[in-house]
Amino acid sequence: MKSLLQKLNIQDINPGASFGAGHWIEDKAGAELVSYNPATGEPIAKVIQATPASYDQVVKASQQAFESWRNVPAPKRGQLVRDLGEAVRELKEPLGELVSLEMGKIRAEGLGEVQEMIDICEFAVGLSRQLYGLTMHSERPNHRMYEQWHPLGPVGVISAFNFPIAVWSWNSTLASVCGDTVIWKPSELAPLAAIATQHICNRVMADHGLSGIFSLVIGTGQEVGELLINDPRIPLVSFTGSTKVGRHVNQTVAGRFGKTLLELGGNNAIIVAEDANLDLAVRAILFGAVGTAGQRCTSTRRIIAHKSIVDELTQRLVKAYGQVSIGDPLDEGTLMGPLVTPAAVEKMEAALQNASQAGGTVLTGGKRIERPGNYVEPTIVRMPKQSDVVKEETFAPVLYILDYDSVDEAMRIHNDVPQGLSSAIFTDSMQTVERFLSSGGSDCGIANVNIGTSGAEIGGAFGGEKETGGGRESGSDSWRAYMRRQTNTINWGKELPLAQGIKFGD
Ligand code: NAD
Repeated sequence: MKSLLQKLNIQDINPGASFGAGHWIEDKAGAELVSYNPATGEPIAKVIQATPASYDQVVKASQQAFESWRNVPAPKRGQLVRDLGEAVRELKEPLGELVSLEMGKIRAEGLGEVQEMIDICEFAVGLSRQLYGLTMHSERPNHRMYEQWHPLGPVGVISAFNFPIAVWSWNSTLASVCGDTVIWKPSELAPLAAIATQHICNRVMADHGLSGIFSLVIGTGQEVGELLINDPRIPLVSFTGSTKVGRHVNQTVAGRFGKTLLELGGNNAIIVAEDANLDLAVRAILFGAVGTAGQRCTSTRRIIAHKSIVDELTQRLVKAYGQVSIGDPLDEGTLMGPLVTPAAVEKMEAALQNASQAGGTVLTGGKRIERPGNYVEPTIVRMPKQSDVVKEETFAPVLYILDYDSVDEAMRIHNDVPQGLSSAIFTDSMQTVERFLSSGGSDCGIANVNIGTSGAEIGGAFGGEKETGGGRESGSDSWRAYMRRQTNTINWGKELPLAQGIKFGD
C-alpha cells in the first residue's frame, strides 16, 4: 500500500473527509471508515467520513466554482479534462493496482478500469467542441428558432464499489466539459481509489488555477448519500448501484423535482443458438461470468442454450471453469479474485440454496473457499426451467443454464426478468440475429452479436431498461443528461405574428 501511494505521489491518503474549497477539510468530528482488502480480510486504511458540516462546505464551494466554470468556453473546459487524462495515463499502473487491492478485481482488470478513464477523457475532450443544438425552421416570417444546451450546476455522482473510479470518470468528464461541477460520493467499500483519484484531480485543477470542479465526499450511503440525494442544490444525481437503493434514490430525487441518471442492476443473458460457434461462445461466457468474480453489472448470469447443443456447451464450460486460477488479484496468472465482502459470499450461498430448491443442479463450484479473504468457487447451475431465483441479480460468479426449443421461446425466457442491461446472442444465422435485434427481440439497453455481455466500449451509450433504471452514460449523446435544453425563438422582423396564425386584438 505504501509503495503504491509513493508511486501515486500521495503523502497522506487520509488528509480529511472531503475536498471542497481547494483543500482537504479536516473535520475531526467525522466517523472513521475502514477499507478492507477482500483478498485477506485485513484492513488497509482508515479514512474519515464527511460530516453534514463538511459536506455543506463542499457543496458551497462546488456551487461557487460552478458560477465561473459555466462561463468558461466548453473547448477550454476540455483542456482540463485533457490534462486529467494525461495525468491518469502516467499513473495507470499504481492506480489500477490500488483498485485491485481495494475491491479485488484482478490486476489486468484494474488497469483496464484506468484505461477506461483515459479513454473517456479523450472522448470528453472531443465532445467539448461538439455540444450541438439543433436549428429549426420557424413557421413565422423573419423568425429564427434553435435550441441550445446549458450546464445544470453541481452534479452529484454516487458510485458502486465494483467500478470504483471508471463510473465516476464516465460522469465527471462529460459533466465537466458540459460546464457542471461534480461532487462525488464513492462507495464506502472503495474510498481509497476515490481519494487517490481526487489527489490527481487536485493537481490538475491546481495547474489550471482552478478548484471545486471535482470534489469528493467520503461516507456511507445512509449518511452522506442521503445528504446528497435530499439536497435541492444538486440538480442531478447520477447513481450507480443496486436496483433496491436506486429505487429509493429515484423516488427521493424526483420528490424534489431533481433529475436522476440511474445505472442499476443487470441480469444479463447470452442466447446460444444451435448454429453458434461454440469456441467463441465458451470464451465469451467464461469472461462474462467469471471476470471480476461475477461482480460486473454486465456479468453474464444466464445462458439460454438450444436443446441440441446445451449438453456440449455445458461440458465445455465445466471444463473451462476447472482451469480458472483463483487467488490474489495482484498475482500474475490469477483469473478470479475474491468477492468484495463476507456478506457477498453469504448472498451467493443463499442464492445457491434457493436455486437447488427450485430444482437446480450445481455442475461445478458452489462452495466458499476456506482461506483468508472472501473467496468462492465459480459456479454453474443447470436449471430445469425459469424460476424466481434466475430473475434475481446475485452479485457473484453464479451462472444459470437454461435450454430452449425455438427462438421465440428463447426470447421469452430472455426478457422474462425485471432487469434490462446487457444481452448477447451467438449464432451464424442472419434471421436469428435480426430477430434478436428487432423491436420484439432483446429488451435490453445493450444487445450484442457473437460477443459477450460484458466489456463495453466507452464510445456507445451505456445503460439499460426496466429495473436497470433507463440511464445512459459514457459515449454517443449521453452528455445531454448533464445539461438543460433551452428552445430560443428570435423575431428579427418588424411585425409580431403569433404561432398557429392566431389573431389577437389585431
Ligand atoms: P449499492 O446499491 O449497495 O451501493 C451503491 C452506492 O449507493 C454506494 O455508494 C452506497 O454508499 C450508496 N448508497 C447506499 N444507500 C444509499 C442511500 N440511502 N442514499 C444514497 N446513496 C446510497 O451497490 P454496490 O453493491 O456498491 O454495487 C453493486 C450494484 O451496482 C449491482 O447491482 C450492480 O449491477 C450495480 N451496478 C450497475 C452499473 C450500471 O452501469 N448499470 C454499474 C456498476 C454497478
